Amino acid sequence: MVADANIATSRSRTVTVCDACLTAACCHGTSTCDRYRTSGTTMRTVAELDGLGLESPDHYRTTRRRTVEAGRSKS
Ligand SMILES: [Zn+2]
Repeated sequence: MVADANIATSRSRTVTVCDACLTAACCHGTSTCDRYRTSGTTMRTVAELDGLGLESPDHYRTTRRRTVEAGRSKS
């Protein structure tokens, strides 16, 4: 629904992350943590994730439309 061409560079953009380890990579299944199976997802802004420094910014700065929607846990 969001048609923002500059979304990838917006620090206020919200990213879906794993609520156990707070990384987008885990939420995407790229690099899962120990609690991945029982954890849910939560939203953090790019600025917050930058502050945490838990993972490479590449994991949450890139725009991936198919991972934006929360509530889809079919895999
Ligand atoms: Zn995790």
